[in-house]
Amino acid sequence: MNVLDEVRITGSIIQAYMMCPRQSWLMTRQINPDEDNELLAVGRFISQTSYPRERKEVRIEHLALDLVKREGKNLVVAEVKKSSRAKEAAVRQLLYYLYELKKMGIEAEGELLFPEERRRQTVKLDAEAEAETEKLIAQVKADIAQPFPPASVRTKACSKCAYAEFCWA
Ligand code: SF4
Repeated sequence: MNVLDEVRITGSIIQAYMMCPRQSWLMTRQINPDEDNELLAVGRFISQTSYPRERKEVRIEHLALDLVKREGKNLVVAEVKKSSRAKEAAVRQLLYYLYELKKMGIEAEGELLFPEERRRQTVKLDAEAEAETEKLIAQVKADIAQPFPPASVRTKACSKCAYAEFCWA
């Protein structure tokens, strides 16, 4: 099977890859993307002030965004996380969303929200972040195209991973 023909990279795969490349490889053998396309609705949301200021769980093609809101003239895409422990993976996931939106002609800023810690962090897709995101996407695609998963490497992520039994039984 050529996995790249079957699977679209998603924010969840990017996040999983940052936690553990093996986890992202395993995900790509199971996911069944829902292709509901709300691009048009989001376009209206961005341009019309009569729409509510926030929308939750917005799906645009292969992107599943936790929250989209307007702040002045800016569109802000927010990702809500339970904790900041895996913040770097969350930043990469959000940058991936901003990168994909830009390719669709939608300029947005990102915001990571950690409600239980009462914290938030702004994430911007500047030129450096864009180049890093392109590189990361290429790396993820190359790795998930491999016929076998990367070897199991025990890390802190294993304790909360859905594949723990598969990897370590
Ligand atoms: S259990 Fe550990 S090694 Fe296996 S996929 Fe999950 S994080 Fe990776």
